[in-house]
Amino acid sequence: TTIIEAKDLNLFYSEFHALKGVNLTIPEKAVTAFIGPSGCGKSTLLRTLNRMNDMIVGTRIEGKLIINDTDIYSQEVDVETLRKKVGMVFQQPNPFPKSIYDNVAYGPRLHGIKNKQKLDEIVETSLKSAALWDEVKDHLKRSALSISGGQQQRLCIARALAVNPDILLMDEATSALDPISTLKIEELVQDLRDRYTIVMVTHNMHQAARVSNQTVFFLNGEVVEYDDTEKLFSNP
Ligand code: ADP
Ligand code: ADP
Repeated sequence: TTIIEAKDLNLFYSEFHALKGVNLTIPEKAVTAFIGPSGCGKSTLLRTLNRMNDMIVGTRIEGKLIINDTDIYSQEVDVETLRKKVGMVFQQPNPFPKSIYDNVAYGPRLHGIKNKQKLDEIVETSLKSAALWDEVKDHLKRSALSISGGQQQRLCIARALAVNPDILLMDEATSALDPISTLKIEELVQDLRDRYTIVMVTHNMHQAARVSNQTVFFLNGEVVEYDDTEKLFSNP
């Protein structure tokens, strides 16, 4: 089933035409990888999915971007509600300078959950989903900045999952990490794809082949091809 659909989507950074007539469907509960050379619009399209580009002055969007049957650039969409449904993880792990616990509890608290038992439960479930619980369960009050980069990135994934999103966006989420931490995140992405729609930007063709169900090729602001990853990578 399709969860995201771009129809003739164009994005301009002032005069610069960054996305050119993108037509694309993204299936739910699967991993879609965006690949292509640097500067070709992968990150721009990813950020368009949670309206992060709105914050950049002079950005103009034409066309439709439909998520769960709603055109997210139509007037009546509430950006806060959208961001609750569409979580994001960045290239550099960016935990808040707070405890591990408070990082994960941040989103739920923001959305009004105050009950301690409920928050404990969400923190535990989210850290388990992010394959981090066993490593941190005995020191949840430690600073998030005291754990390794790979653990911080999994913490950022837990923080994103804690508000129960449908979609998780990952913008080169492993490119600042060592190979072992990268493999852990790739395994995690594969574990999560039954429950979440994951859209990831990567510059690594092998990573796209390893973890994605669908691969989208970008060039100069255009989507030049997209298909099942197995099909795309099976022909030599
Ligand atoms: P990719 O993720 O494929 O490396 P981006 O989506 O980051 O590419 O960038 C696509 C193009 O848009 C690049 O030419 C980049 O320089 C330009 N661009 C990105 N962000 C901005 C911005 N805020 N203002 C102007 N141009 C931008
Ligand atoms: P302390 O350092 O005081 O022993 P911890 O670091 O063990 O505290 O725990 C920090 C927070 O995490 C506490 O507020 C606690 O309620 C919560 N917590 C501890 N164990 C669990 C658990 N099994 N599930 C969810 N939350 C927990």
